[in-house]
Amino acid sequence: MPRTNRRREEEAPPLDAERILSGARRTVAARDGEWTVQPMAASNSVKAYACPGCSGTIEPGTAHLVVWRADSILGDADALAQRRHWHRRCWEIRA
Ligand SMILES: [Zn+2]
Repeated sequence: MPRTNRRREEEAPPLDAERILSGARRTVAARDGEWTVQPMAASNSVKAYACPGCSGTIEPGTAHLVVWRADSILGDADALAQRRHWHRRCWEIRA
């Protein structure tokens, strides 16, 4: 009997301003808790940020990651307010 109901790819979430800015968000479990990691496209990166990983500068126009706690006891809004911008590599190799 043929399979008629193929599993569909995940439905595209509603398009909103935040999503346009941010790309695909994911949650990662790390040694120090859960973090929400959101890629920032080069074209959307218009400010310089201090990277907590290397203490260097993420220059405007550099694709990077925006990271905040996913398990904040103070809530998502507070965690988001404390978000940090990381070089991709610095996030991947952080201790
Ligand atoms: Zn860095």
